[in-house]
Amino acid sequence: MSLVRQNIAELKPYQPGKPIEELRRELGITGDIIKLASNENPLGPSPRAVDAIGACASGVNMYPDGGAFALRSAIAEKHAVARDEVVMGNGSNEVLTLLARTFGPGHNAVISEYAFIAYRLVLKAADVQTRIVPTKPGFEQDLGAMADACDAETQLLFLANPNNPTGVYAPRDKLRDFLARVPEHVIVVLDEAYVEYAQANDYASALEMRDARERLVVCRTFSKCYGLAGLRTGYGVAPAPLIDYLNRVREPFNTGVIGQAAALAALADADHLQRSVEVNEQSRAVLTRALDELGLEHIPSQTNFVLVKTPRPGVEVYEAMLREGVIVRPLVPYALHDWIRISLGTVAEIERCAAVLRNVL
Ligand SMILES: *Cc1c(COP(=O)(O)O)cnc(C)c1O
Repeated sequence: MSLVRQNIAELKPYQPGKPIEELRRELGITGDIIKLASNENPLGPSPRAVDAIGACASGVNMYPDGGAFALRSAIAEKHAVARDEVVMGNGSNEVLTLLARTFGPGHNAVISEYAFIAYRLVLKAADVQTRIVPTKPGFEQDLGAMADACDAETQLLFLANPNNPTGVYAPRDKLRDFLARVPEHVIVVLDEAYVEYAQANDYASALEMRDARERLVVCRTFSKCYGLAGLRTGYGVAPAPLIDYLNRVREPFNTGVIGQAAALAALADADHLQRSVEVNEQSRAVLTRALDELGLEHIPSQTNFVLVKTPRPGVEVYEAMLREGVIVRPLVPYALHDWIRISLGTVAEIERCAAVLRNVL
Protein backbone atom coordinates (compact mmCIF):
# COMPACT_ATOMS: atom_id res chain seq x y z
CA MET A 1 0.00 0.00 0.00
CA SER A 2 1.21 3.51 -0.80
CA LEU A 3 2.44 5.60 2.10
CA VAL A 4 0.32 8.57 0.99
CA ARG A 5 -2.91 9.12 -0.87
CA GLN A 6 -2.75 9.75 -4.60
CA ASN A 7 -3.33 13.50 -4.27
CA ILE A 8 -0.23 13.81 -2.05
CA ALA A 9 1.84 11.58 -4.34
CA GLU A 10 0.94 13.84 -7.27
CA LEU A 11 1.66 17.14 -5.49
CA LYS A 12 4.53 19.20 -6.86
CA PRO A 13 5.92 21.58 -4.23
CA TYR A 14 5.52 25.34 -4.77
CA GLN A 15 8.63 26.80 -6.43
CA PRO A 16 9.47 30.09 -4.74
CA GLY A 17 11.53 32.86 -6.33
CA LYS A 18 15.26 32.23 -5.99
CA PRO A 19 16.66 33.83 -2.81
CA ILE A 20 19.59 36.25 -3.30
CA GLU A 21 21.88 34.23 -1.01
CA GLU A 22 21.22 31.05 -2.98
CA LEU A 23 22.27 32.74 -6.23
CA ARG A 24 25.45 34.01 -4.54
CA ARG A 25 26.26 30.49 -3.35
CA GLU A 26 25.46 28.71 -6.60
CA LEU A 27 27.02 31.06 -9.16
CA GLY A 28 29.63 32.73 -6.95
CA ILE A 29 28.36 36.16 -8.01
CA THR A 30 30.08 38.84 -5.96
CA GLY A 31 28.42 42.02 -7.30
CA ASP A 32 25.02 43.42 -6.50
CA ILE A 33 22.14 41.04 -6.99
CA ILE A 34 18.58 42.26 -7.39
CA LYS A 35 15.55 40.06 -6.84
CA LEU A 36 12.54 40.86 -8.97
CA ALA A 37 10.95 37.46 -8.52
CA SER A 38 8.48 37.45 -5.62
CA ASN A 39 6.53 40.72 -5.89
CA GLU A 40 8.10 42.12 -2.72
CA ASN A 41 8.00 45.82 -1.84
CA PRO A 42 11.38 47.27 -2.91
CA LEU A 43 11.06 50.14 -0.41
CA GLY A 44 11.02 47.71 2.52
CA PRO A 45 8.55 47.80 5.39
CA SER A 46 7.13 50.96 6.94
CA PRO A 47 9.61 52.50 9.43
CA ARG A 48 6.76 52.35 11.94
CA ALA A 49 6.60 48.58 11.47
CA VAL A 50 10.35 48.33 11.99
CA ASP A 51 10.03 50.27 15.27
CA ALA A 52 7.16 48.05 16.39
CA ILE A 53 9.24 44.95 15.68
CA GLY A 54 12.07 46.29 17.83
CA ALA A 55 9.68 47.21 20.61
CA CYS A 56 8.20 43.71 20.94
CA ALA A 57 11.42 41.71 20.52
CA SER A 58 12.02 41.31 24.26
CA GLY A 59 8.49 39.95 24.75
CA VAL A 60 8.73 36.94 22.47
CA ASN A 61 9.12 34.51 25.37
CA MET A 62 5.33 34.83 25.64
CA TYR A 63 2.88 33.17 23.28
CA PRO A 64 1.07 35.60 20.98
CA ASP A 65 -2.57 36.56 21.41
CA GLY A 66 -3.95 33.69 19.35
CA GLY A 67 -7.06 35.72 18.59
CA ALA A 68 -4.94 38.71 17.48
CA PHE A 69 -7.45 41.01 19.17
CA ALA A 70 -5.75 44.37 18.51
CA LEU A 71 -4.86 43.62 14.88
CA ARG A 72 -8.25 42.12 14.03
CA SER A 73 -9.94 45.13 15.62
CA ALA A 74 -7.90 47.52 13.46
CA ILE A 75 -8.62 45.49 10.32
CA ALA A 76 -12.33 45.36 11.15
CA GLU A 77 -12.37 49.12 11.63
CA LYS A 78 -10.52 49.71 8.35
CA HIS A 79 -13.11 47.72 6.42
CA ALA A 80 -16.14 48.69 8.53
CA VAL A 81 -16.91 45.06 9.39
CA ALA A 82 -17.28 43.26 12.71
CA ARG A 83 -14.25 41.74 14.43
CA ASP A 84 -15.77 38.28 14.22
CA GLU A 85 -15.85 38.68 10.44
CA VAL A 86 -12.03 38.63 10.29
CA VAL A 87 -9.68 35.64 10.47
CA MET A 88 -5.89 36.00 10.56
CA GLY A 89 -3.59 33.71 8.61
CA ASN A 90 0.11 32.90 8.54
CA GLY A 91 0.14 34.81 5.27
CA SER A 92 -3.06 34.87 3.24
CA ASN A 93 -1.80 31.62 1.77
CA GLU A 94 -2.76 30.01 5.06
CA VAL A 95 -6.27 31.45 4.80
CA LEU A 96 -6.54 29.69 1.43
CA THR A 97 -5.35 26.45 3.04
CA LEU A 98 -7.88 26.84 5.86
CA LEU A 99 -10.67 27.38 3.34
CA ALA A 100 -9.68 24.30 1.34
CA ARG A 101 -9.38 22.10 4.45
CA THR A 102 -12.55 23.42 6.11
CA PHE A 103 -14.95 23.59 3.18
CA GLY A 104 -13.34 21.53 0.41
CA PRO A 105 -13.35 17.80 1.21
CA GLY A 106 -16.33 15.96 -0.25
CA HIS A 107 -17.02 18.80 -2.69
CA ASN A 108 -15.41 20.26 -5.80
CA ALA A 109 -13.82 23.64 -6.46
CA VAL A 110 -13.64 25.97 -9.47
CA ILE A 111 -10.62 28.08 -10.44
CA SER A 112 -9.35 29.82 -13.59
CA GLU A 113 -6.56 28.70 -15.86
CA TYR A 114 -3.40 30.73 -15.09
CA ALA A 115 -4.73 31.58 -11.63
CA PHE A 116 -2.28 31.86 -8.72
CA ILE A 117 -0.80 28.36 -8.47
CA ALA A 118 -1.31 28.09 -4.71
CA TYR A 119 -5.02 27.43 -5.36
CA ARG A 120 -4.28 24.14 -7.10
CA LEU A 121 -1.81 23.16 -4.41
CA VAL A 122 -3.99 23.84 -1.37
CA LEU A 123 -7.02 22.21 -3.02
CA LYS A 124 -5.07 19.14 -4.06
CA ALA A 125 -3.46 18.84 -0.63
CA ALA A 126 -6.98 18.84 0.85
CA ASP A 127 -8.04 16.26 -1.77
CA VAL A 128 -10.63 18.55 -3.39
CA GLN A 129 -11.55 17.86 -7.02
CA THR A 130 -10.76 21.03 -8.96
CA ARG A 131 -12.21 22.32 -12.23
CA ILE A 132 -9.96 24.63 -14.20
CA VAL A 133 -11.80 27.03 -16.50
CA PRO A 134 -9.85 28.26 -19.59
CA THR A 135 -9.06 31.97 -19.83
CA LYS A 136 -10.13 34.19 -22.71
CA PRO A 137 -7.55 35.79 -25.05
CA GLY A 138 -5.18 38.12 -23.21
CA PHE A 139 -5.47 35.92 -20.10
CA GLU A 140 -8.81 37.47 -19.14
CA GLN A 141 -10.46 35.25 -16.54
CA ASP A 142 -13.74 33.95 -17.96
CA LEU A 143 -16.10 34.84 -15.13
CA GLY A 144 -19.22 33.67 -16.98
CA ALA A 145 -17.72 30.25 -17.67
CA MET A 146 -16.49 30.01 -14.06
CA ALA A 147 -20.00 30.68 -12.77
CA ASP A 148 -21.36 28.09 -15.21
CA ALA A 149 -18.74 25.53 -14.12
CA CYS A 150 -20.28 25.42 -10.63
CA ASP A 151 -22.63 22.51 -9.97
CA ALA A 152 -24.50 21.21 -6.92
CA GLU A 153 -21.26 19.73 -5.51
CA THR A 154 -19.20 22.92 -5.90
CA GLN A 155 -18.45 24.51 -2.55
CA LEU A 156 -15.40 26.69 -3.30
CA LEU A 157 -14.48 29.08 -6.10
CA PHE A 158 -11.14 30.93 -5.95
CA LEU A 159 -10.59 34.10 -7.98
CA ALA A 160 -7.61 36.46 -7.76
CA ASN A 161 -8.38 40.08 -8.58
CA PRO A 162 -5.96 41.28 -9.84
CA ASN A 163 -4.43 37.91 -10.70
CA ASN A 164 -0.86 36.68 -10.25
CA PRO A 165 1.08 35.87 -12.52
CA THR A 166 -0.88 37.57 -15.32
CA GLY A 167 -1.62 40.96 -13.71
CA VAL A 168 -5.11 41.13 -15.24
CA TYR A 169 -8.18 42.28 -13.31
CA ALA A 170 -11.94 42.00 -13.47
CA PRO A 171 -13.63 45.43 -13.55
CA ARG A 172 -16.29 46.45 -11.04
CA ASP A 173 -19.41 45.74 -13.11
CA LYS A 174 -18.28 42.33 -14.33
CA LEU A 175 -17.24 41.36 -10.82
CA ARG A 176 -20.57 42.42 -9.33
CA ASP A 177 -22.54 40.51 -12.00
CA PHE A 178 -20.37 37.47 -11.37
CA LEU A 179 -20.87 37.56 -7.58
CA ALA A 180 -24.61 37.72 -8.11
CA ARG A 181 -24.57 34.94 -10.71
CA VAL A 182 -22.50 32.25 -8.95
CA PRO A 183 -24.96 29.85 -7.26
CA GLU A 184 -25.76 30.82 -3.67
CA HIS A 185 -24.34 27.66 -2.09
CA VAL A 186 -20.82 28.30 -3.46
CA ILE A 187 -18.27 30.08 -1.22
CA VAL A 188 -16.61 32.62 -3.50
CA VAL A 189 -13.07 33.45 -2.38
CA LEU A 190 -11.79 36.76 -3.77
CA ASP A 191 -8.03 36.99 -3.37
CA GLU A 192 -7.01 40.66 -3.29
CA ALA A 193 -3.29 40.35 -2.56
CA TYR A 194 -2.56 43.24 -4.99
CA VAL A 195 -5.55 45.45 -4.25
CA GLU A 196 -3.42 48.42 -3.14
CA TYR A 197 -1.68 48.52 -6.53
CA ALA A 198 -4.87 48.38 -8.60
CA GLN A 199 -5.39 51.99 -9.66
CA ALA A 200 -7.72 51.52 -12.66
CA ASN A 201 -10.86 53.66 -12.38
CA ASP A 202 -13.09 50.65 -12.92
CA TYR A 203 -11.37 48.43 -10.35
CA ALA A 204 -13.26 47.77 -7.13
CA SER A 205 -12.71 45.52 -4.14
CA ALA A 206 -15.26 42.80 -3.49
CA LEU A 207 -15.49 44.24 0.03
CA GLU A 208 -17.72 46.88 -1.59
CA MET A 209 -19.97 44.11 -2.90
CA ARG A 210 -20.75 42.09 0.19
CA ASP A 211 -24.43 42.76 -0.47
CA ALA A 212 -24.19 40.82 -3.76
CA ARG A 213 -23.97 37.44 -2.03
CA GLU A 214 -23.78 35.93 1.45
CA ARG A 215 -21.01 33.40 0.86
CA LEU A 216 -18.07 35.65 0.05
CA VAL A 217 -14.56 35.58 1.51
CA VAL A 218 -12.12 38.38 0.70
CA CYS A 219 -8.44 37.64 1.33
CA ARG A 220 -5.82 40.35 1.89
CA THR A 221 -2.15 40.25 2.79
CA PHE A 222 0.57 42.33 4.45
CA SER A 223 3.17 40.62 2.23
CA LYS A 224 2.98 42.77 -0.88
CA CYS A 225 2.38 46.53 -0.71
CA TYR A 226 2.77 46.61 3.10
CA GLY A 227 6.24 45.12 2.73
CA LEU A 228 5.96 42.44 5.43
CA ALA A 229 6.33 39.23 3.39
CA GLY A 230 8.91 37.84 5.81
CA LEU A 231 6.47 38.03 8.72
CA ARG A 232 3.73 35.90 7.17
CA THR A 233 0.63 37.88 8.01
CA GLY A 234 -2.60 37.92 6.02
CA TYR A 235 -6.33 37.75 6.66
CA GLY A 236 -9.74 36.90 5.35
CA VAL A 237 -13.03 38.82 5.71
CA ALA A 238 -16.23 36.77 5.62
CA PRO A 239 -19.60 36.37 7.37
CA ALA A 240 -19.13 35.37 11.02
CA PRO A 241 -20.49 31.80 10.62
CA LEU A 242 -17.82 31.04 7.98
CA ILE A 243 -15.08 32.62 10.12
CA ASP A 244 -16.26 30.50 13.04
CA TYR A 245 -15.68 27.28 11.06
CA LEU A 246 -12.25 28.46 9.90
CA ASN A 247 -11.28 29.17 13.51
CA ARG A 248 -12.03 25.55 14.44
CA VAL A 249 -9.42 24.37 11.94
CA ARG A 250 -6.92 27.18 12.47
CA GLU A 251 -3.84 26.51 14.61
CA PRO A 252 -4.28 28.44 17.88
CA PHE A 253 -1.08 30.51 17.44
CA ASN A 254 -0.87 30.77 13.64
CA THR A 255 0.28 34.40 13.66
CA GLY A 256 3.18 35.52 15.84
CA VAL A 257 3.86 38.40 18.23
CA ILE A 258 6.12 40.21 15.76
CA GLY A 259 3.90 39.81 12.71
CA GLN A 260 0.85 41.08 14.60
CA ALA A 261 2.70 44.13 15.98
CA ALA A 262 4.29 45.00 12.64
CA ALA A 263 1.03 44.67 10.72
CA LEU A 264 -0.78 46.86 13.26
CA ALA A 265 1.88 49.56 12.88
CA ALA A 266 1.93 49.25 9.08
CA LEU A 267 -1.85 49.73 8.91
CA ALA A 268 -1.37 53.16 10.51
CA ASP A 269 1.23 54.31 7.96
CA ALA A 270 -0.81 55.50 4.98
CA ASP A 271 2.15 57.56 3.70
CA HIS A 272 4.37 54.54 3.25
CA LEU A 273 1.63 52.73 1.38
CA GLN A 274 1.08 55.69 -0.90
CA ARG A 275 4.81 56.06 -1.58
CA SER A 276 4.99 52.37 -2.41
CA VAL A 277 2.17 52.69 -4.93
CA GLU A 278 3.76 55.78 -6.52
CA VAL A 279 7.15 54.10 -6.94
CA ASN A 280 5.37 51.10 -8.41
CA GLU A 281 3.59 53.28 -10.99
CA GLN A 282 6.91 54.93 -11.97
CA SER A 283 8.70 51.60 -12.28
CA ARG A 284 5.87 50.13 -14.32
CA ALA A 285 6.07 53.06 -16.75
CA VAL A 286 9.86 52.62 -17.08
CA LEU A 287 9.58 48.86 -17.65
CA THR A 288 6.70 49.23 -20.09
CA ARG A 289 8.65 51.71 -22.20
CA ALA A 290 11.74 49.46 -22.20
CA LEU A 291 9.70 46.41 -23.20
CA ASP A 292 8.04 48.37 -26.02
CA GLU A 293 11.46 49.46 -27.27
CA LEU A 294 12.62 45.84 -27.22
CA GLY A 295 9.47 44.84 -29.09
CA LEU A 296 8.46 42.39 -26.34
CA GLU A 297 4.79 41.60 -25.81
CA HIS A 298 3.62 42.23 -22.25
CA ILE A 299 0.29 42.08 -20.47
CA PRO A 300 -1.18 45.31 -19.02
CA SER A 301 -0.82 44.98 -15.25
CA GLN A 302 -2.70 46.37 -12.25
CA THR A 303 -0.13 44.87 -9.88
CA ASN A 304 3.54 45.19 -8.92
CA PHE A 305 4.78 42.82 -11.64
CA VAL A 306 4.55 42.42 -15.40
CA LEU A 307 4.16 39.26 -17.48
CA VAL A 308 6.54 39.43 -20.44
CA LYS A 309 6.68 37.22 -23.54
CA THR A 310 10.18 36.07 -24.42
CA PRO A 311 11.46 35.19 -27.93
CA ARG A 312 13.34 32.21 -26.43
CA PRO A 313 12.15 29.82 -23.70
CA GLY A 314 11.56 31.84 -20.53
CA VAL A 315 13.86 29.56 -18.51
CA GLU A 316 16.78 30.38 -20.84
CA VAL A 317 16.20 34.11 -20.49
CA TYR A 318 15.82 33.70 -16.72
CA GLU A 319 19.11 31.76 -16.45
CA ALA A 320 21.01 34.24 -18.61
CA MET A 321 19.71 37.10 -16.45
CA LEU A 322 20.71 35.21 -13.28
CA ARG A 323 24.32 35.21 -14.47
CA GLU A 324 24.05 39.03 -14.65
CA GLY A 325 22.76 39.19 -11.08
CA VAL A 326 19.08 39.83 -11.86
CA ILE A 327 16.56 37.32 -10.54
CA VAL A 328 13.21 37.24 -12.38
CA ARG A 329 10.61 34.46 -12.40
CA PRO A 330 10.26 31.72 -15.01
CA LEU A 331 6.74 30.30 -15.18
CA VAL A 332 7.22 26.61 -15.93
CA PRO A 333 4.74 25.46 -13.23
CA TYR A 334 2.10 27.52 -15.08
CA ALA A 335 3.10 25.99 -18.44
CA LEU A 336 3.85 29.55 -19.58
CA HIS A 337 7.09 28.44 -21.21
CA ASP A 338 7.62 31.53 -23.35
CA TRP A 339 7.05 34.07 -20.61
CA ILE A 340 8.81 35.51 -17.57
CA ARG A 341 7.36 37.58 -14.74
CA ILE A 342 9.26 40.69 -13.64
CA SER A 343 8.45 42.22 -10.25
CA LEU A 344 8.53 46.01 -10.14
CA GLY A 345 11.53 47.03 -8.07
CA THR A 346 12.70 50.61 -7.68
CA VAL A 347 13.17 52.66 -10.85
CA ALA A 348 16.94 52.09 -10.63
CA GLU A 349 16.44 48.33 -10.32
CA ILE A 350 14.06 48.27 -13.27
CA GLU A 351 16.51 50.26 -15.38
CA ARG A 352 19.23 47.73 -14.62
CA CYS A 353 16.84 44.85 -15.29
CA ALA A 354 15.89 46.34 -18.66
CA ALA A 355 19.56 46.79 -19.62
CA VAL A 356 20.33 43.18 -18.67
CA LEU A 357 17.29 41.93 -20.56
CA ARG A 358 18.44 43.86 -23.64
CA ASN A 359 21.95 42.29 -23.39
CA VAL A 360 20.63 38.81 -22.87
CA LEU A 361 18.35 39.00 -25.89
C1 LIG B 1 1.54 36.70 -2.86
C2 LIG B 1 0.15 36.23 -3.04
C3 LIG B 1 -0.63 35.79 -1.98
C4 LIG B 1 -0.26 35.62 -0.59
O1 LIG B 1 0.81 35.77 -0.02
P1 LIG B 1 1.01 35.60 1.54
O2 LIG B 1 2.42 36.01 1.69
O3 LIG B 1 0.77 34.16 1.89
O4 LIG B 1 0.04 36.49 2.22
C5 LIG B 1 -1.93 35.42 -2.20
N1 LIG B 1 -2.46 35.49 -3.41
C6 LIG B 1 -1.77 35.92 -4.46
C7 LIG B 1 -2.44 35.99 -5.77
C8 LIG B 1 -0.44 36.28 -4.32
O5 LIG B 1 0.27 36.64 -5.39
